[in-house]
Amino acid sequence: GERTEVDLATLVDRVVRVGEYQWKMHNVRILREPEQLERPLTLMADADQIEQVLLNLLSNAVDAMPRGGTIRIRLGEGEADTVIFAVSDEGMGIPEEIRHSIFDPFFSTKEIGKGTGLGLSISYGIVRDHGGDILLESQPGRGTTFTVTLPREGPPP
Ligand code: ADP
Ligand code: MG
Repeated sequence: GERTEVDLATLVDRVVRVGEYQWKMHNVRILREPEQLERPLTLMADADQIEQVLLNLLSNAVDAMPRGGTIRIRLGEGEADTVIFAVSDEGMGIPEEIRHSIFDPFFSTKEIGKGTGLGLSISYGIVRDHGGDILLESQPGRGTTFTVTLPREGPPP
C-alpha cells in the first residue's frame, strides 16, 4: 500500500469507534491514554495496514477476556524519532512456554474456527515492513501488553 502522513491518535480513535458495537457486545471498554496529547503523533505509514495491526491486537485482547474488561491503548513518543502504541488487556496472559511461537503463522490456541493463527504473524510482518518492532509483556492470570514501535519516517531505504 501507499505511505502517507498518518496521525496516530486519529487512526486509533477511528478503529475504536468503528468497532464500538463489537466491544459492547463483548462487555469490553477501550480507553485511549492519554486523552490529550501535547504534540501530534505523526508518522509515514500505510494507514490501512497499521489499522489492521491495531485491530488484530484488539481482537486478541477481546478473546483474552471472555467475561469482558478494560483494554488500554497507550500512545506516546519513543526514542530515536519513533512513535509507540501499546495495547493492554486484563486477560489470561500468555504462558511462557508458547511466547516464542505466537508470531508464527498458523500458531493458535483457539478452537477450530475461532482463530486462524495469522493475526500476529501478519501484524509482525507489517510492523517490520515499516521498520518497527513489536514487544510483548505478559503476566499469566493478569494480562498482556503488546507494544508497537514505529519510526516516524518509515523504514530506511
Ligand atoms: P489467533 O488469534 O487467530 O489465534 P494470533 O496470531 O492473533 O492468532 O495469536 C496467536 C496466539 O497468541 C493466540 O491463539 C493466543 O494463544 C496468543 N495470544 C495473542 N494475543 C493474546 C492476548 N492478548 N492474550 C492471550 N493470548 C494471546
Ligand atoms: Mg488473533
